[in-house]
Amino acid sequence: MGGTFDPIHYGHLVTAEEALVQFNLDRVVFMPTGVPVRKTHRTVTQAEHRYLMAVIATASNPDFEVSRMEVDRPGPTYTVDTMLELRKGYGPETDLYFITGADAVWDILTWKDSEKLAGVCTFIAATRPGYDLSKFSAEDASRLHIEFMEVPALAISSTDIRCRIAERRPVRYLLPEAVATYIAKNDLYPGGA
Ligand code: ATP
Ligand code: MG
Repeated sequence: MGGTFDPIHYGHLVTAEEALVQFNLDRVVFMPTGVPVRKTHRTVTQAEHRYLMAVIATASNPDFEVSRMEVDRPGPTYTVDTMLELRKGYGPETDLYFITGADAVWDILTWKDSEKLAGVCTFIAATRPGYDLSKFSAEDASRLHIEFMEVPALAISSTDIRCRIAERRPVRYLLPEAVATYIAKNDLYPGGA
């Protein structure tokens, strides 16, 4: 499951847990992006902080892990490079899935090498409040190897959490308490989104 995770929240965790069970996965690897290619309109929080928040949020789940692969790779992040590296590491016998929310899956169509990616992994597109998955054509889904997954609707986003923190509004119950503590300790979002 790739993302900026700035910060990680319960929408991410619920989606990962549902994918684990619905697709009978062995584990979910959270992959915080290094330098994101597409999010250039704002300054993304240092990769090390985003990585550590993901570690804190997933620590209690034995089926979740966090990878440093993209965080440690210099230059911009391309998902295809990551999936090919994972494929090399796990070998040809392992089925690889890329978990995304309904918004991110739209981007896949415009991703560099989306067809090449479809040859390496299956995409899991999770429902997300405010985004419509039904607009996807069956032809796109089959060509790009996209499976659809219903998850409990949580209208939570990192953008909203960053705004709330900057405006001193509550974030309790939107993300793990230990992550909120880490954010406060490091004063991560003084200016909001
Ligand atoms: P931002 O507001 O900064 O874009 P975000 O909440 O969208 O943050 P990302 O790190 O961009 O979080 O998302 C990582 C992945 O998790 C994406 O595939 C996204 O679609 C998915 N995702 C995020 N929040 C939810 C949610 N509430 N429900 C389902 N999927 C989600
Ligand atoms: Mg997002």
